[in-house]
Amino acid sequence: MKTWKKKLAPNRRFKKQVAHHAALVADFIYQIGEYKDLRKRSIDVPLNKINTKEYQAKFRYLKKCLIKYRKLTRVGRGITAVQVGIPEKFSVIYTPEKYQIIINPKITKVSKKKYLYKEMCMSTHPIVAPTVRPSWIEFEYFDEKGNKNYWNTKDNTKLGKILNRVFQHEIDHMDGIINIDRVLNSRDLTLHSDPRYYKTTKFILVS
Ligand SMILES: [Zn+2]
Repeated sequence: MKTWKKKLAPNRRFKKQVAHHAALVADFIYQIGEYKDLRKRSIDVPLNKINTKEYQAKFRYLKKCLIKYRKLTRVGRGITAVQVGIPEKFSVIYTPEKYQIIINPKITKVSKKKYLYKEMCMSTHPIVAPTVRPSWIEFEYFDEKGNKNYWNTKDNTKLGKILNRVFQHEIDHMDGIINIDRVLNSRDLTLHSDPRYYKTTKFILVS
């Protein structure tokens, strides 16, 4: 007679690692459902206050949070102030030449070409959301010294594609939009429970 045997779930070791990382960053990353401002439009940073001690401290704190997140989890390219409890329009992006701060960005142009790409978000961890976005954008912003700058680097390389996407993801946060809102079909959502995820994710041209 055949005896029934239990079958344990797949990727157990990896899932424990993912859960461990989530526990490490739980102190400073705000999650959807626990913080209403993640779903609201953040307020502009007052331009005449960029160089004050208060705002310089806020920028430094956000930068530190991204560095810490990357150190603890070995992933994460961008973070927006609202994700650490500051509902104001600024983000830090790892480019990877530097940790770049963008303040009050305004998108001035978006490409017609669009890509599908699997994204994750620190505030919806461990959801993986396949999201369609323009392949590049152009925008103006202020840096942490209060100088006006422009982003118009196109998507000719994989890094270029990733950065254009990270900027869009972070600018969305400033408007209270989370990547899961942009998923066309909720059945496409998965969890970060497969260790091959980062090796297999690709940009897929959709238009
Ligand atoms: Zn995010």
